[in-house]
Amino acid sequence: MRPASEACGSTWARSYDYTARELVRPRSVEDVRDLVLREPRLRALGSRHSFTDLADTPGVLVSLDGLEESPSLVGDVVRVPGGMRYGELAAWLQERGRALPNLASLPHISVAGAVATGTHGSGVGNGSLATSVTALEIVDGRGELVRLSAGEPDFAGAVVGVGALGIVTHLELLTSPTYQVAQTVHEGLTYADLREHLTEILGAAYSVSIFTRWTDEPDGSVGRVWVKSRSTTPEIPGTVLATGPRHVVPGLDPAPCTEQLGVPGPWHERLPHFRLDFQPSVGAELQSEYLVPLYRAQEAVDAVRSLADRVRPLLQVGEIRAVAADDLWLSPAYGTDSLALHFTWKADPVGVGALLPDLEQRLPTGTRPHWGKLFATTDPGAEFPRWDDFRDLVRRFDPDRRFWNAWLDRVLG
Ligand SMILES: Cc1cc2nc3c(=O)[nH]c(=O)nc-3n(C[C@H](O)[C@H](O)[C@H](O)COP(=O)(O)OP(=O)(O)OC[C@H]3O[C@@H](n4cnc5c(N)ncnc54)[C@H](O)[C@@H]3O)c2cc1C
Repeated sequence: MRPASEACGSTWARSYDYTARELVRPRSVEDVRDLVLREPRLRALGSRHSFTDLADTPGVLVSLDGLEESPSLVGDVVRVPGGMRYGELAAWLQERGRALPNLASLPHISVAGAVATGTHGSGVGNGSLATSVTALEIVDGRGELVRLSAGEPDFAGAVVGVGALGIVTHLELLTSPTYQVAQTVHEGLTYADLREHLTEILGAAYSVSIFTRWTDEPDGSVGRVWVKSRSTTPEIPGTVLATGPRHVVPGLDPAPCTEQLGVPGPWHERLPHFRLDFQPSVGAELQSEYLVPLYRAQEAVDAVRSLADRVRPLLQVGEIRAVAADDLWLSPAYGTDSLALHFTWKADPVGVGALLPDLEQRLPTGTRPHWGKLFATTDPGAEFPRWDDFRDLVRRFDPDRRFWNAWLDRVLG
């Protein structure tokens, strides 16, 4: 039966209106295979939390949130249907005493969409969310259902696949026993301390985020440190503990944010900054993010600070995190422990578009963009050693270019 079609709408932040002909919601893997065999152009759509035309297609957008399936656990590994969101999966795992090593700032995103772009949380010992994947099932451009497991030749190329290889119908993720996390906010960080103690601060607990607007605030500080600890709360140089809950954007109501003040709770209710049942972040916004080799962290923060007078008027808030190295070809943390410099911009595409080339030009060699967000470079491949191997993989998985789109044309060439 042909799945029902719908209007295509826009990204979550309304930063891009999809131009696809229609949106369909297949109910089974067989439906997905039929679609791929029938449609000359199509693309998987997750929860729409990327900011550009990355997921778009001139043909059919395929949302897997209608797949009639639940997750299942076999030993330590959970099998997840392609349309499921982290928030739903995390609650399901917690009920069974299991956990994932990390989550992004929000639980609203789909597992498949987040993995496809190399989405990450923070922690010097935590890889991106894609590093939990142990197997993928993809309907490729010939309509074949392909299973790839960790260790097989194409696996490391396919996991962060930016939607270019096909439609991921299932993922398998390694879980651990559940654990508790306590979250504290530390205020009053100065730029001198941020710069001097950057890697020490990021390594002070299981997951650490520094929120900054890059210019000095009226009290002389440059930001706050959000600490998510699995043991005792660490001291952060030059800061004091916040006495009440905070939003990541100074001055906003903290109600949408996960519990703070050091109250321990389950991993999935502390690792994201935002609660599942509230709107995350700001809404009217754009985002960019760059991953820089961690050994260049000071150079990178100095580069942004040198542009602070241009960054600040366009910025709602910036976030600095750490991501451990991995071996996934298109992962922005490929082969190197990384510093992630995130920017939640105001919804000003012209202003942000004018700033990004200058910002990128100042960031150190080795900087790689987040695939789901805005970036200016037209040659990101130069920083990815397996770029040409990934292009070959795309040619093999999608010989007729069914999943090709304008974003791939610009970025992959
Ligand atoms: C408020 C907010 C907070 C964010 N916080 C973070 C953060 O903390 N860390 C971080 O790294 N990023 C963050 N992001 C970025 C976000 O995680 C990524 O853009 C992610 O890709 C969004 O997943 P999605 O399901 O919305 O994917 P979509 O935007 O719907 O799609 C993204 C890509 O995934 C592909 N895709 C989706 N589903 C499938 C599938 N089943 N098979 C094959 N390909 C598929 C699409 O084709 C597309 O190429 C944030 C974004 C927002 C809006």
